[in-house]
Amino acid sequence: MTSILEKSEKPIQNIAVSAASGLICKACGALHPISPAHVCDECFGPLEVTYDFSNLDPVKLKKQIEAGPRDIWRYAPLLPVQPHSRTLSGVGYTPLQRAWNLAAKLGIDELYIKNDAVNPTHSFKDRVVAVALAKALEFGFDTIACASTGNLAGAVAAAGARAGLKTYVFVPASIEPGKILSAAVYGAEIVSVDGTYDEANRLASQVADEYGWGFVNINLRPFYSEGSKTLAYETAEQLGWKLPDHVVAPIASGSLYTKITKGFKELISLGLVADQALPAMSGAQAAGCNPVATAYSNEAGEITPVRNPTTIAHSLAIGSPADGYYSLQIARQTGGIIEQVTDAEIIEAVKLLASTEGIFTEPAGGVTLAVLKKLIKEGKIRRDEKTVVYITGNGYKTQSALEGEYNLPQPITPKLSAFEKLLG
Ligand SMILES: *Cc1c(COP(=O)(O)O)cnc(C)c1O
Ligand SMILES: [Zn+2]
Repeated sequence: MTSILEKSEKPIQNIAVSAASGLICKACGALHPISPAHVCDECFGPLEVTYDFSNLDPVKLKKQIEAGPRDIWRYAPLLPVQPHSRTLSGVGYTPLQRAWNLAAKLGIDELYIKNDAVNPTHSFKDRVVAVALAKALEFGFDTIACASTGNLAGAVAAAGARAGLKTYVFVPASIEPGKILSAAVYGAEIVSVDGTYDEANRLASQVADEYGWGFVNINLRPFYSEGSKTLAYETAEQLGWKLPDHVVAPIASGSLYTKITKGFKELISLGLVADQALPAMSGAQAAGCNPVATAYSNEAGEITPVRNPTTIAHSLAIGSPADGYYSLQIARQTGGIIEQVTDAEIIEAVKLLASTEGIFTEPAGGVTLAVLKKLIKEGKIRRDEKTVVYITGNGYKTQSALEGEYNLPQPITPKLSAFEKLLG
């Protein structure tokens, strides 16, 4: 039994100290100190945060997490930064919805939707931005920025406003009107680039070098991407500290997909779950921007970039994915599949999710769901596999994707007889 005295001797703040110990190069393994750096100075490989978990007791940690705030900061010891009061409230701890109707329709026993469309700016990007922003404040940046396919712009703009920092977002000129508005309303400077996302990103990298701003997905990328691990932690916790058998997640740069995997791995090595094996990690791409899915199906060792993405799933339209290579490895090692779907399949899946589960997702969610549907149909996800699908963005921002799909019916006169005539 824990006495009140014992509890008060161990204030939450003490245990919430981050276990992050440095940055490690994913290519050559060289260790670097924690700093706003994202490439290895020895081999130019990508850096990621590494941790020393040896002082974490799984029983205590689990208790601590369960008593923590109902947002991503309940996992603070496993993140690379202290929670910061100037980040947005209400990020993460989103619902894991048991999808009874959809499961029955698709022919699977146990299906869950991790609904990240309900974050403060309506996409999973609030998670990664919260971590990057807290780190940017710690490093002392006065300007934050990003290159974005749409959702990141909104998340950075809102978080920048809340933190009182100057904010710049670089977007391809083709982004949806709803996403421009969702960034501009927070007062961010919008830099509209006549080119693809990859071109906007290249420009942003030059600006990062030249001006020393904190670009959340460039020089702060090692910290930013750790935010996605919270999706794995929440999934396991919401399943009663168990891992699913199979997951389906979208792939744009591959950051989300690789970090969900890292999150599951950490839970296993920390002993927070009894499982010993990772779930089969399946990935989803749109046929109009399919570099990782193509490499997967061709059994290729390298990713061939897609120069001109053409898909309604703008959020996933990254032709040259930074973590594409690592995503391929994960799919192969875990028995997952990286599959692609057409725009028509995406729209059908958006409608299916809304009409069976009451969740309106943007096309990226349609990509993920359509891939799930395909994998079940082809027997690549079996009926008895406990499956989680990640819905990462909200449909209300991308209403233009469904233009012409629904029209107001002919008005009737406000009379009961007219209504009855309508029923036929
Ligand atoms: C950014 C984004 C993703 C995934 O992006 P990664 O670059 O692969 O991390 C998925 N869905 C939506 C809606 C997004 O905005
Ligand atoms: Zn290196």
